[in-house]
Amino acid sequence: MDNGWESIIGMEIHAQLSTESKIFCGCSTRFGDEPNSNTCPVCLGLPGALPVLNRRAVELGARAALALGLHINHRSIFARKNYFYPDLPKGYQISQYDQPFSVNGVLEIMTAERDDAGHPVEWRPKQITITRLHLEEDAGKNVHEGLPDVDRYSYIDLNRAGTPLAEIVTEPDFRSSWEAYDYVNHIRRALQWVQASDADMEKGNLRCEANVSVRRKGDNTFGTKVELKNLNSVRFMQRAIEFEIDRQIKVLESGRKLAQETRLWDEKAAETRVMRSKEEAHDYRYFPEPDLPPLVVSNECVQRVKGEMPELPDARRRRFMDQYGLSFSDASQLTGGKSLADYYEKAAEVSGNARGAANWIRSEVLRELEGLGVEASGSPVNAENLGLLVRMIDEGKISGKQGKEVLVQMFRTGKTAAAIVEEQGMVQVSDTNEIDAIIDQTLSANQQQVASYRGGKETLFGFFVGQVMKASRGKANPKVVNERLKARLSG
Ligand SMILES: [Zn+2]
Repeated sequence: MDNGWESIIGMEIHAQLSTESKIFCGCSTRFGDEPNSNTCPVCLGLPGALPVLNRRAVELGARAALALGLHINHRSIFARKNYFYPDLPKGYQISQYDQPFSVNGVLEIMTAERDDAGHPVEWRPKQITITRLHLEEDAGKNVHEGLPDVDRYSYIDLNRAGTPLAEIVTEPDFRSSWEAYDYVNHIRRALQWVQASDADMEKGNLRCEANVSVRRKGDNTFGTKVELKNLNSVRFMQRAIEFEIDRQIKVLESGRKLAQETRLWDEKAAETRVMRSKEEAHDYRYFPEPDLPPLVVSNECVQRVKGEMPELPDARRRRFMDQYGLSFSDASQLTGGKSLADYYEKAAEVSGNARGAANWIRSEVLRELEGLGVEASGSPVNAENLGLLVRMIDEGKISGKQGKEVLVQMFRTGKTAAAIVEEQGMVQVSDTNEIDAIIDQTLSANQQQVASYRGGKETLFGFFVGQVMKASRGKANPKVVNERLKARLSG
């Protein structure tokens, strides 16, 4: 911003850890089951029921923490966060407070401002400090839609109560809505990459909140902070932050004061509105959870989890650059998701042409996948078959142009390149005798142009190439045609 103002943004993300059962009981975490069918005395908060920590939730929390560069504390404490809400039958949520699971992460993300059309202007690295990642349980859900008499009743579904969450909190390190946007996408990819969370915002298993304030450039103190909620997609979040920055600047420039409050994003109205003010804010009265012992994570345990994790995106990007000679931007694109990176490596191996495989994926395959709305892992053309197609082209069996047609048909039919090439008689002609014969016919049919060419009009060369290619019905190997034509015309 060049208007004399600076925006300060901090992010909080809640990611559901991909366990099969809840964090303190054995109930299923399956999505979409009949309401209240996955409940028991523990997650219903019945008196006398005791929580038992799910080991898998700790392992996945550790994966998430390590993927984001956090330090895992040897000892952490669960705490009760007290508040009253209908979807929280115990009257408190088990979370962590002053001794969290992991702390002090430094994460490097790639970020870019966007132009008016929404295209990234210039990608640059930015370091984000992650204050903490702690473990906690989710609350249930109030349902206000799709049930009888919803105008008079609220319904409560406790299937989600007790689902394990990782809460990830940053320092106020972001200076624009796009930095926050790129950060959330980075987190989503990292969590999916190590299979700690599905991180799907539409299903609600990744939720984010933004703390937004503005100040005059050069000021050292922070302005009044507003908390934004109800950000149901990364794009909505970006728009909400942008709106909020403008709103705050307008309020301050008009000489009024900002209230410290929580605001909700209303996508239809494209504005934020007040949910609650600070006067109504909760005092959670945290205290240590007496029913759970301290969580102790040994160094051996951390090393074991590390050993089970796949190569992380940044390391894999660097390796793609070193091992396959890819540029930074190519390697970044091909490590945009784990399934895409796996797909690329397999295609590179089968084709024996790492750069060629990269070009085919970046230009042709990604476009097809986008059209189908699927990830690389769901591609109708698997990596082996793409690799075989690239090899056919490299071996001169078909031209690159034919290859593009073949690939489109592979996506439509699921057939291999070899099958399509055979069916359509598409084989490229590289035999010099055959090509020479076509050249001779072409030259004798265009003697006037041959005379002009030999008289110095060398721009006619392209014309001859075109005529020969046409006479071969596109099957002649263009490289061979070029070589032979030059020889014939100069002779
Ligand atoms: Zn339960």
